Amino acid sequence: MFLRGCLLIVRLRLQMPSSFLTFQRFSKVPTGFASLNFPASQQGGVGLNLFIKGISQLVTVASNGKRTKTCSEMHELGILDEAGVLCLKGKIDWIGRMREWNRSLPDAFPEIDAGGKVVMPGFVDSHTHMMFAGSREHEFSLRSQGATYQQIAEQGGGILNTVQHVRVASKRELKKTTSRYLTDMMRHGTTTVEIKSGYGLRMDSEIKMLEAINELKNEEIMTIVPTFIGAHAVPPEYNGGSDVYVRKITDEMIPYIGKKNLAAFCDVFCEKGYFELDEAERVLVKGKKFGMLPKIHADELTPLGGAQLAAKVGAVSADHLENVTDKGIAALQRSDVVATLLPGVSFFLGHGYAPARRLIDAGVPVAIATDFNPGSCMSYSMPMMMTIACTQMQMTPEEALTASTVNAAAALNMSSTVGSIEIGKNADLIIADIPDYRFMAYHFGTNHVWKTIKNGTILEF
Ligand SMILES: [Zn+2]
Repeated sequence: MFLRGCLLIVRLRLQMPSSFLTFQRFSKVPTGFASLNFPASQQGGVGLNLFIKGISQLVTVASNGKRTKTCSEMHELGILDEAGVLCLKGKIDWIGRMREWNRSLPDAFPEIDAGGKVVMPGFVDSHTHMMFAGSREHEFSLRSQGATYQQIAEQGGGILNTVQHVRVASKRELKKTTSRYLTDMMRHGTTTVEIKSGYGLRMDSEIKMLEAINELKNEEIMTIVPTFIGAHAVPPEYNGGSDVYVRKITDEMIPYIGKKNLAAFCDVFCEKGYFELDEAERVLVKGKKFGMLPKIHADELTPLGGAQLAAKVGAVSADHLENVTDKGIAALQRSDVVATLLPGVSFFLGHGYAPARRLIDAGVPVAIATDFNPGSCMSYSMPMMMTIACTQMQMTPEEALTASTVNAAAALNMSSTVGSIEIGKNADLIIADIPDYRFMAYHFGTNHVWKTIKNGTILEF
C-alpha cells in the first residue's frame, strides 16, 4: 500500500513571497536551488538553512563528544523545553530555550513553527538488507503454521530464495524498489541507513548490488552506508563447500570491492551451517586490509562465539546477539564494539530476544536496528523496534531512543556527525506530533512523524 505514495515531490517551504519551491524527489543536486547558492553539506546532501521554533520538547540525545552512551547515560536525553533549533548550511548551529534566543535572522530566513510538537534526532538504522528482489510471504505463511526459519532455509527458502531473484534482477530494478523503501523510511523518521549486499553471493551479483547501493548513495537525500556481506550464506553451487567460497571472497571479491571503494564495512553471517568462526575471521581480517571495517552477525541462532570474535578483530559492531553467552558479554565489555540488537527479528520469527538488560548493565553500548529484509523482518519502522525493545527486552523508552540514534550512529562510525542534535552535527531531525517523546514507543503501530528534516531541508511527502 505504501508504494502508492512514493512518487512524491519534496518541497522546501521558504518564508518568502510565492512561498514554495519544488524539486523532483530527493535529487541531491536540485537545479532549482542553484541560484539560491546553498552549498552541499558534508554528507553530500543539500545543505540548507532553517529555524525551528515552537518546540515543546527538544530531545537532543546529546553525547557531549562521546562516541557512544552507556549505562545510565543511555537514560539522559538532554531534553530542553520550549526550545528552538537553528540549522545553517545543513548543520546545527544553535539549540536552546526560546527565551534565550537573542540572534536576529534575515527577513527571508526559512523557518517552521513546530506548534508545540516534539523534536528529536532522525533515526539511524544501522543494519538492513533492504536491497532485495522478490518477497517471501509464502515463508511467512509456513512459519505461521509452525515451520521454523531454519527448516525453511534447509528446503531452499530463506536467504537463497532471495538470492535467486536478485541474481536475475537488473541494477535498475534493484534501485527502483530500494528507492521506494527509502522514501517511506524517511517518512517514518529514518535519516541514515546502512544497506548490505549479500543476496548476490557471486562476484558479478555482489558487485551489481554494491554498485546499485553506491548509486543510490549519490542520488538519494538519505545518508546511505554500503556494507559488503558476500559471506551471508554459502551459495548453492558450492554444495556446502564454505571453504572454497570463503577463498573466493577473500581472494577475489574483497580486493576488487576494496580497490573500487564500494563498501565501508565488511560483514559475515557467523553461524553454524553458514560461516564458522575461523572462516568469519579470515573474511573480516581481509576486509579490514582493504579498508572495510568489520561487522558481524553474531550469536543469532546458536552461541557460536561471534561476540568474542567481534572483540578480537576490533569490529565496529556485533549484531543480533540473541544467544550471546556471559563470556561474549564480557568480551564486548572490554572492547569498543557496539552491540546492535534487532528486536524486529525476534518478534517476527518468534524466537528469543537478545539480553538487552544484561548488555546495558554491563556497560556495553547498545544500538537497535530493523534488519529490514524480506525473510526475518519485513519492517523498516524504527519506532516499532523501540516499542518491541521496551515491551519484550526490558529497555526503557529513553534507552530505546538512545539506541536508535546516537549509539546506532556509532555502530556506523558516524556518531561525530549524526545521531544527536548538537552544534556542528548534521541537521537531521524529526518533528513528531506527540505530547511527549515516550509516545514514540508507547503509542505503537502508527506514524507520529509530522516532518522529517534532512540536512536542514524539510521533506514533504
Ligand atoms: Zn542481518
